[in-house]
Amino acid sequence: MKYRRFGKTELPLSVFSLGTMRSLASVEAMVAVVQAGYSGGINHFETARAYGQSEALLGQAIAQLQLPREQIYLTTKLLPTASGAEIRHQLEQSLERLGVDYLDCLALHGINTPDHWQQAQLPQGCLPALEQARDEGLFRHLGFSTHGPRELILEVVNSDRFAFVNLHYYYFFQRHAPVIARAAELDLGVFIISPVDKGGQLYAPPTELVEQCAPLTPLDFNYRFLLSDPRISTLSLGAAVPSDLEAALAIAHQTAPLSDIEHSIDHQLNQAQRSNLTSDQCSQCYQCLPCPEAINIPEILRLRNLALAHGMTEFGQYRYRMFENAGHWFPGRRGDRCTDCGDCLPRCPEQLDIPKLLRDSHQHLKGQNRRRLWED
Ligand code: SF4
Ligand code: SF4
Repeated sequence: MKYRRFGKTELPLSVFSLGTMRSLASVEAMVAVVQAGYSGGINHFETARAYGQSEALLGQAIAQLQLPREQIYLTTKLLPTASGAEIRHQLEQSLERLGVDYLDCLALHGINTPDHWQQAQLPQGCLPALEQARDEGLFRHLGFSTHGPRELILEVVNSDRFAFVNLHYYYFFQRHAPVIARAAELDLGVFIISPVDKGGQLYAPPTELVEQCAPLTPLDFNYRFLLSDPRISTLSLGAAVPSDLEAALAIAHQTAPLSDIEHSIDHQLNQAQRSNLTSDQCSQCYQCLPCPEAINIPEILRLRNLALAHGMTEFGQYRYRMFENAGHWFPGRRGDRCTDCGDCLPRCPEQLDIPKLLRDSHQHLKGQNRRRLWED
């Protein structure tokens, strides 16, 4: 296991952090996963009030295993609240559930919209209350997690009120590369959310992707892409059972720059996009937005890119089904909402027939048809 400085917090975190939202079956399950992670060198354990019993089970596991408090780092996350008093109360409950008198890190869980950010900053809002709690010693470092758009994340990062950011960024989703760069400039710790599942369901890759990533597995290639980047401090690793940790622990020492072979895999994957998508490739520039029907055009076409270029149709279906079902955690409407108004067309530098591609994506990603897709 390698360790990296978590930005200005100065905490020496393991490059993998144990996320505890999947090990909730029982305290025994949590103990087994925490023990395996700690034995493997993981020193950072992450939970959230919103993860059901996770905080309480993690607290019990730490107590049962008698993990030395000064050798582990604990993070929990609290959803933004309307009032500072409310989040203060919730923080005190989290400390009690975890059985500790301070946390190393506390994150505002999901600054996903400009409204969340505005509300949080109000004098009676949750951010000033958390800053006060930090100054009183209830926790050491304040950060935020986000599923929001790049512009919002940059605004929050630039506010200088946080020491770390917890965000989505993977080989197959590099939209937030400018955030990673800015966070590094400002010395924020960078904590990546769910690189395996949200990063492409890479624990069950399609054959095409396996071939394109050879001789590495898609899972290892994505890990290497992230671990080789010194600006990224730590990656979240969810586990229901100890064996879920094995692949990550096996690669956790490989933080060197990408090798020639790994660069050639990157080249192979880019080549697959070009040859399989030809003139229909969305370049993810986001210039087509806004759409009056609030369709998330770039994300739908990203899923289409992945399905066509790498066979990642099941992943595309999994994410596509979240449109209109996950609120601000996965914003935007489905492709079949397009009214052919044409507003987006002159803004697309690739001159894509966006309405046609959206309808095509909807047909193939809506998930009711379980045939091999894209072949009919
Ligand atoms: S043509 Fe469709 S996708 Fe484009 S802006 Fe109009 S409704 Fe949105
Ligand atoms: S403007 Fe065109 S290329 Fe850019 S994200 Fe939108 S659809 Fe894709």
